[in-house]
Amino acid sequence: MEVNPFRLKQTGSFSYFSMQDVEALGIIHGFCTRSTLPPASRPGEGDDFLSTFSLRDCIAMEQVHSDGIHVVQDDTDDPKAGDGLIMMQQGVAGIIRTADCVPLILCEARSRMAAIVHAGWRGTVLGIAGKAVRMMAELGAEPSLMQALIGPCIGPCCYEVGQDVVGHFTDVGFSETVVGRRNGSLFLDLRKANAEGLKAAGVKHIQILDLCTRCRPDLFFSARRNESGRQFSFAAVIG
Ligand SMILES: [Zn+2]
Repeated sequence: MEVNPFRLKQTGSFSYFSMQDVEALGIIHGFCTRSTLPPASRPGEGDDFLSTFSLRDCIAMEQVHSDGIHVVQDDTDDPKAGDGLIMMQQGVAGIIRTADCVPLILCEARSRMAAIVHAGWRGTVLGIAGKAVRMMAELGAEPSLMQALIGPCIGPCCYEVGQDVVGHFTDVGFSETVVGRRNGSLFLDLRKANAEGLKAAGVKHIQILDLCTRCRPDLFFSARRNESGRQFSFAAVIG
């Protein structure tokens, strides 16, 4: 299955969408489907994941709908809570879990840096996507060389929200095009909102996986379908 420019891949027991061009740069990454169980975050428990992708370690955090982003530079970095990870250690994957929220992967191959971000509506309003770009730039990455991959999330087809949520977006300056109006209801486009944040931070290459988690129960969990499961996404620099 291809959802241009992403491809659905199967590696061992892992089923995920990824971009070949980005893999070719030495950035291992994927947006897994619901059929793939998340690896545990503690050493030893994610062995299948580590061996399948030839990784040394993986890091997952308790996600708290914040704009907290941690930099992982050496073996002592082991953040416990937050919503973004900047991975600078080769062979160590950052992991996030989502249902309808946006999983976002950023990478800048020249600087050997990858980031993974969880952006629900709260994180999006807080500007977590742009913050990740700025933090990577402070560490030496060049925003215009970055690739940003926006993964499977609830689409504007299904993400009905109240005026209170829309108000948060307009208050911080998102364009009106992130909100759609149909039959007297309001629908939020989280992909477009995060893409706006990325562009404002200087990112030029933004790819969006155009699959809605609520519309595709065959592929993804959705909180709006009252499912408690979460699919996971991962990113690591190798080589
Ligand atoms: Zn939908």
